[in-house]
Amino acid sequence: MPLIDARADYQSAMVDRLAYLVEQGDKLSVSEVQSLIGDDPAVLKHPATSVLANGIDSGAVWLVATVLNPTDDAIMRRLSVRTGWLEQVDFFLLTADQPPIHFVGGDRVPVHERSLPERLPSADYPFPPGETRLLLRVETADPMVVPFGFSSIATNHSREQSETAFYSFVYGVMFALSAYNLMLFASLRQRRYLFYSLYTASFIAMTVSYNGIGMALLWPQAVAWQQWAPPLLMLCFTSSGLAFGTNFLRTRRHRPWLHRSIQILCVASFALLGVCFALDEQGLALRLAFLFVPVFTVLMLYMGVSSWMSGNESARYFMLGTLASAIGASITALTVTGTITYTRLGFYAVDIGMVVDAMLLMLALADLVRKNEKGRVAAERTAQIDLLTGLDNRRGFLPVAESFWSLVTRKQRDVCVAMIDIDHFKEINDQYGHATGDRVLKEIAGELDRSRRHGDLLARWGGEEFILLLPETTDAEARTVAERLRYNIERLRINDRNRTIRCTISIGIASRHSEHVTLDHTIAVADEKLYTAKVQGRNQVSMGRTSDGLQRSSSTHTA
Ligand code: GH3
Ligand code: MG
Ligand code: MG
Repeated sequence: MPLIDARADYQSAMVDRLAYLVEQGDKLSVSEVQSLIGDDPAVLKHPATSVLANGIDSGAVWLVATVLNPTDDAIMRRLSVRTGWLEQVDFFLLTADQPPIHFVGGDRVPVHERSLPERLPSADYPFPPGETRLLLRVETADPMVVPFGFSSIATNHSREQSETAFYSFVYGVMFALSAYNLMLFASLRQRRYLFYSLYTASFIAMTVSYNGIGMALLWPQAVAWQQWAPPLLMLCFTSSGLAFGTNFLRTRRHRPWLHRSIQILCVASFALLGVCFALDEQGLALRLAFLFVPVFTVLMLYMGVSSWMSGNESARYFMLGTLASAIGASITALTVTGTITYTRLGFYAVDIGMVVDAMLLMLALADLVRKNEKGRVAAERTAQIDLLTGLDNRRGFLPVAESFWSLVTRKQRDVCVAMIDIDHFKEINDQYGHATGDRVLKEIAGELDRSRRHGDLLARWGGEEFILLLPETTDAEARTVAERLRYNIERLRINDRNRTIRCTISIGIASRHSEHVTLDHTIAVADEKLYTAKVQGRNQVSMGRTSDGLQRSSSTHTA
């Protein structure tokens, strides 16, 4: 019979000081267990690790030990089983000549009906001098993990404090991320923020449902809910994680079959849970939920890796985050199912991994926002550029020209506007085809761009027409510039499939002569002068002043 010294104050779990027997068939009573052991002490087995971890739905287990108090005084000790999800835990303490003392805990018992209204099954007992037989019966459909604690009340208190600090940190971070993303969703209406918020919130809900915090603080009486909450919330957690992943990585677009399969899988898992509920098969529901966790992890990793490999850089953070939570969850799952040796770090690995995951996913979201913003700025710029010639278009030109305009107006400086139109361009299209026309347009735009002075603003105004704003330029200077442009185009030879194409341009210039004149008006006068250049024979420059007045009737030509 294992012996526990009542004077000892154990800091960590200690199942290796207890022996156990698995209850087969009917429920045993204390005296039955006593006589079983008395008849044949070999019925007792000794756990290999310091925690009795017997897998899921393994039936009831009895743990047995003798506590020896060699002193003359009673010694007060807190007995506890530090797993929040065990359904029923009965502590029996047997001292010679005394009736057995019974404490009860576990999440099948409402908090206020437990011997101690604690989150974890616990009992406080003053061990009298001599020997006391300790019998512990644990019954649960959940993973049978029994980290047994035997310590002074002060030690227990300080451990609880450090646990409270740990959970406060984890839940604080997760809650903040969840609330923040919910607000992002409320204002941006992008569903990935909602899914992220649900993913982090369901993580909180899932963990508080199985570590006992939920029942201790939120639903002390809701015993039935407590039995079904862990499998249900586990499925909520995995499904919202998958919803976030598929939305974030745009799986619907890039891998429609995968997206469909994931949807079916999630719906099927909830349907199966419903079936379990209808059949009142809680153990089966838990097996299902635990089975879904590795499936979830594999899917998330596969989605992340394949998206990353096909060039989505935001998938990198996603993948690392998923990896962190997957490693954490696997370590915890292996710990609670008894596959690997129990350690506290192993027990809490899922929480630590999840905090890392949530933060990396937040980075992934930020990365995506940054990329979208870059794309938006680029798209905005693209909308101001003429794709054929690479010059600014009217949208790009006008705001810049307007600010130039107000500057020169304020400083009362000279400014001119030139409208440039290719002569008989329609004939080039007719003769060589539209594609060649495009090429010619591009070549001429290039030549104009090279010929303009630094600081003059050139743009494609539309069709085969260009505009040039010449700040700080007198009439005479503008004429010189325009003549040079005209001459350079006249000399330009454009080779197209062994043919040489030549072009000329006509230019109309308007110079501003009153500070009250607007840019629009000046452009209209330049257009007018362009028309004059056309009717006077093309391939020439025509000048005018805004104070010359504008004859609207003659400005109806289309250049
Ligand atoms: P004018 O000397 O009087 O200016 O004669 P024009 O033929 O140049 O003038 P008109 O306005 O009659 O014709 C302009 C032509 O330019 C018609 C249109 O098809 C062509 N055009 C406008 N934009 C483009 C373009 O982007 N690519 C090509 N290939 N042709 C264009
Ligand atoms: Mg033309
Ligand atoms: Mg034209």
